[in-house]
Amino acid sequence: IKAGPVRISTREAAEALIDRYDNFLFDCDGVIWLDEKAIPGVLRTIEYLESKGKKYVFVTNNSSKSRSDYVHKFAKLGFKGITKERVYPTCYAAVAALKDTYGIESGAKVWVLGDSGIEQELKEEGYIPLGGTDERLDGPWNPNSELLKVDPEVKAVIVGSTKDFNYNRIASTLQYLLYNNKSIPFIGANIDRTYPGPDGLILPAGGSVVNYMYYTAHRDFLNVGKPSTVFLDTILAHNEFDRSKTLMVGDTLYTDIKFGNDGQLGNGAGSLLVLSGGTKVSDLNHLIQNPHSFEDGESLIPSYFVDSLATLTDWLE
Ligand code: PLP
Ligand code: CA
Repeated sequence: IKAGPVRISTREAAEALIDRYDNFLFDCDGVIWLDEKAIPGVLRTIEYLESKGKKYVFVTNNSSKSRSDYVHKFAKLGFKGITKERVYPTCYAAVAALKDTYGIESGAKVWVLGDSGIEQELKEEGYIPLGGTDERLDGPWNPNSELLKVDPEVKAVIVGSTKDFNYNRIASTLQYLLYNNKSIPFIGANIDRTYPGPDGLILPAGGSVVNYMYYTAHRDFLNVGKPSTVFLDTILAHNEFDRSKTLMVGDTLYTDIKFGNDGQLGNGAGSLLVLSGGTKVSDLNHLIQNPHSFEDGESLIPSYFVDSLATLTDWLE
């Protein structure tokens, strides 16, 4: 059984942790914010890392918002200098996979089930999104909808998080997933079951949408979000981050922590769990005591854990 995790609970431990890494990958929901509310004190920690010359980017499994949307969200919450190139939502990863994994060139039509982030990222790369937020898919079930007829020019299907999940969208998406003996690639933006909302609320996440379509179409999908190591490799390459000097910080064991661990960040000590989101210390203890009752349980154990990102600077300033 793998040793650890190490709890960061003193000033010395916090200093040593920050010294050991040059680069940080931050998950967003549960680490930086809870939905629209920033987690208190986190901005100070980011500014502290900045003052130490550390490099960092943000990696979120939420595909609902585009990189441009996130630039506005960070600015609104007081984060400075967060440009599009520093934000990696899975709508971006899904569009990158079209070319990198499937060789589908820009100009192609792509069917979407998900909020506007996917459509926006597709358009930026010159793809033509169909479905998505199309208002003809709103409202009650319409068995005569023209969108139930497959457009044979569609080259891929991308499914991600949406707050407009309804029968019209499911039924149209299903036609594409079944079309021509299930031959159109099925890209899933993420596998998260839930995410932490404000005031302790637990909300359904995009993985629930992806898995609904997986079940009804009875076919597998390519997960482009965390913990995909393809996604990690892309991010490290873009930013020229040295894997051995990079730490993944997240609140979810089966996405964030697995992402850092499978990616061999920090020479195998590259994941920091924060307890400000969806995982409580009792969940972590349960995992450590029963790793074999989880699928691939040892890859879920973080290298370190801390109450919140904010706690680090409580000691350091
Ligand atoms: N919001 C929605 C709708 C999601 O689907 C997800 C993840 O799947 C999240 C938020 C959380 O994203 P993250 O914690 O990776 O920032
Ligand atoms: Ca999270």
